[in-house]
Amino acid sequence: MSDLYCVFGNPIAHSRSPAIHAAFAALTAQDLVYEARLAPVDGFPQAVSEFVAAGGKGANVTVPFKEEAYRLATRLSDRAARAGAVNTLAFNGSEIFGDNTDGAGLVRDITQNLDFPLAGKRILLLGAGGASRGVIAPLLAEKPASLFIANRSADKAVALAQAFADVALLGAGNFAEIDGKCFDLVINATSASLSGESLPLPAGIFAPGSLAYDMMYGKGETPFLTLARVQGAATRADGLGMLVEQAAEAFFVWRGVRPTTEEVLADLRAKLAA
Ligand code: NDP
Repeated sequence: MSDLYCVFGNPIAHSRSPAIHAAFAALTAQDLVYEARLAPVDGFPQAVSEFVAAGGKGANVTVPFKEEAYRLATRLSDRAARAGAVNTLAFNGSEIFGDNTDGAGLVRDITQNLDFPLAGKRILLLGAGGASRGVIAPLLAEKPASLFIANRSADKAVALAQAFADVALLGAGNFAEIDGKCFDLVINATSASLSGESLPLPAGIFAPGSLAYDMMYGKGETPFLTLARVQGAATRADGLGMLVEQAAEAFFVWRGVRPTTEEVLADLRAKLAA
């Protein structure tokens, strides 16, 4: 029988993870089935128990269950412990191992797919929610020159910076506080693009040769990437590559095999544009 995996979320019908993992399985000749499972908002632990009882070997976790998955895990990877959230679960007997591959996926997309090394770069991270928290440690591991967290509510940015004070001294504040500063990489980890909203970013924040990265993806240019183009960011990318790379990292956690991602990403991109 094929090994069983799934992604839990609510809603989940839109998820591209089943198609991505089916493609990875074909590419690496791994015998597995990966499905999307809708968990009730108040019934995530029960949904996981049922999946494990049915023989489930591992699962991805998406909105709104990442923090709950973190609490459910009986063992955490260092990066999941730092992130305070889990997007990848592996089941082994009574153990529930929790990992977080979002940050690794982002870093791999930026450094490998976009060929943009992070060492010595000035990074601006917009947003102070779960996605921001998850990528900070992997970004810092690349040894950037600096990292500034800017958020609509400054207090959340400051609290997030303080949570990493043992690793590095991070700048933090609201959007007005980046006025006059200049960055090599600007990452949008807010959910503003989801509602089609633009961010009130001061002019002049994009350094020559800079990369603007929106974790959000969809058909066409996001409002943040439009703003980045108008303000002169040299390169612009959406979060589709991050999605595929975090999936590849999860696949590696489960199967010990790293799938190539180029073909899968190109295929997804074509489907998104259609
Ligand atoms: P959270 O709800 O945890 O955080 C949302 C953040 O966005 C907060 O910092 C919030 O600011 C800010 N925000 C929301 N609306 C606005 C607005 N109109 N103007 C300014 N700031 C705003 O969300 P997540 O951190 O989980 O997710 C953030 C984004 O990252 C989402 O778009 C998600 O789809 C994307 N993502 C993409 C992934 C990928 O693989 N490509 C993986 C994970 C996430 P405040 O604190 O002031 O409310």
